[in-house]
Amino acid sequence: MEETGVIFDIKKFAIHDGPGIRTTVFLKGCPLYCWWCHNPESQSFKLQKIQSKESDLKTSSNFKKEIGRIVSVNDVISEILKDRIFYEESGGGATFSGGEPLSQPNFLRLLLKECKKEGIHTALDTCGYGPMEELKEIVKYVDLFLYDLKFYDSMNHEKYTGVSNKTIFKNLEMLVDLKKEIFIRIPIIPTINDMDDEIINLAEYILGLKHIQKIDLLPYHKIGKDKYFRLRMLNKMENIPEPTKDQMEKIRTKFESFGFNISIGG
Ligand code: SF4
Repeated sequence: MEETGVIFDIKKFAIHDGPGIRTTVFLKGCPLYCWWCHNPESQSFKLQKIQSKESDLKTSSNFKKEIGRIVSVNDVISEILKDRIFYEESGGGATFSGGEPLSQPNFLRLLLKECKKEGIHTALDTCGYGPMEELKEIVKYVDLFLYDLKFYDSMNHEKYTGVSNKTIFKNLEMLVDLKKEIFIRIPIIPTINDMDDEIINLAEYILGLKHIQKIDLLPYHKIGKDKYFRLRMLNKMENIPEPTKDQMEKIRTKFESFGFNISIGG
């Protein structure tokens, strides 16, 4: 029987998920629950319903939309192949994101393998949390890792994401040993992970890997705010502001002082 998986979106013509023009496939389900997650609908592994934006709570209208669908490897690959011409012209390809794609290891491996068979460039957008053995199984099919690091401090990582960062660091070090191409992505969240010592510790750790040139700083934004309400999920970020341009520039300068190539916003 053909392998299936659960996705919650396919985004065409994506330009921030790796080089060139890409198709980004969002796999549903994540073992973390980051306070600032702007895709809270990505966290559950189950199909869900969300209150529609069009529905008005003041009236009797209470229309709900389905989130997530079960799809086969062929369904996804045929969607990706429709835009092959754009990948060829722009140096783009397919990106697998989530949720956490490593949480559907068989489905992910088959998707990546099919892309490589078709000569499509592949990127994996991952928080790095998953069994190393499963990560090793897919490494050869991934051209570029977009690897999220959220904290150097393990206790804070656990407090704000639900898991320790030890596995995430070990998996990253394994990819570095294999000399894979890796862009680090760091969400910047005021009062949570933007403190000087946290930034410096993280920068020193990344520098010590002696392999990473590019870091994307991703400013926290409140775009997902209304989704928490519509999913009836608790939003712990009500009182946390978005970082200002000035704050982001100061953090950029700190990372640049370590010699990194920094971009803001991916
Ligand atoms: S790792 Fe990403 S998808 Fe998972 S909870 Fe955190 S921000 Fe959301």
